[in-house]
Amino acid sequence: MKAARFYEPGKIVVEEVETPQLLPDEVLIKVHYCGICGTDVHIFNGDEGSSKVSDKAILGHEFSGEIVKIGSDQNNYKNFKVGDLVCCDVNYSCGHCHYCNNGKPHLCDSMKGIGTAINGAFAEYIAMPQDKTFLIPEHLSLQEAAMTEPVSCCLHGIDLINISLGETVLIVGCGNIGLTMIQLCKYAGASNIIAVEPISHRRDLALQLGADYVFDSNNASVLSNVDLNQTGPITKAIDCAGLISTAEFCIENAGKGATVLLFGLTGPHDVLSVKPFSMFLKELTIKTSFVNPFTFERALNLLSNGIVKTSEIITDIYPLADIQEVFANRLYAKNGKVLIKCVSE
Ligand SMILES: [Zn+2]
Ligand SMILES: [Zn+2]
Repeated sequence: MKAARFYEPGKIVVEEVETPQLLPDEVLIKVHYCGICGTDVHIFNGDEGSSKVSDKAILGHEFSGEIVKIGSDQNNYKNFKVGDLVCCDVNYSCGHCHYCNNGKPHLCDSMKGIGTAINGAFAEYIAMPQDKTFLIPEHLSLQEAAMTEPVSCCLHGIDLINISLGETVLIVGCGNIGLTMIQLCKYAGASNIIAVEPISHRRDLALQLGADYVFDSNNASVLSNVDLNQTGPITKAIDCAGLISTAEFCIENAGKGATVLLFGLTGPHDVLSVKPFSMFLKELTIKTSFVNPFTFERALNLLSNGIVKTSEIITDIYPLADIQEVFANRLYAKNGKVLIKCVSE
């Protein structure tokens, strides 16, 4: 099969590799679409401290596809059939460390991820255990289903900050993560969503998907036009951009008693400069969110019911053959979410 292997920072090569062998409890999936994630970009750029990858690893973990073969295990407990359209949760935990034993398998000491430690889905086929594989609901497209993993990660972030009906939420950065967060916050009951984003068509999308106020972060008077007397103070602030400036902006603008969620992935060596004293005066809670424990099935429900819309967020689809160009020329940064089409017609 064809697969895109990561050789070294800046170099991904599409080449012929062996199609994965199936373990008894696995299914072989013909990959249709696999999204490019910030994690893939960090690895491609050779950012020190990003996920450890195995030698010549196949990256990619946000995928959807079609079952073409079922492992020999007679106990096919999910009743999968050849031809089923599926998407997958991609993190493996050990099941017996302190964190696994205490309800936090995503913090497992020996966690392994598909597309980093284990070969991923920028390939024509991938073998996945049945318990990590989920049937795509009927009216959800394969393209939208490839967004289940990032949506499930956003959902974990939302789980962590307990939004109540009527809250005022600040969302900084309206790329695919910010636009997903806007929809989740709206559905969770936030009544005033203030979105900040430098690119104008993303601000338009933010309004379309549920933001109540949008601001251009290039404009020095950001937020000065929001009458916080009307909205009430910001009670939740979510950084979806992962820059030092955006994280600090969230901390500065969060109201008293607020929770700040640092969701966007910063560079491994980025350092914030914040004044603990001003955080103390506001009694701020700072939270971070890591991957997607127990959210995959719920993310699929939200997508299939149209509560989270991704068709506007996905803007570009490139064939697997072009993957080096997409990474090297940063084509993933131009518009919205970029998917790689792995299946060849
Ligand atoms: Zn991802
Ligand atoms: Zn563990």
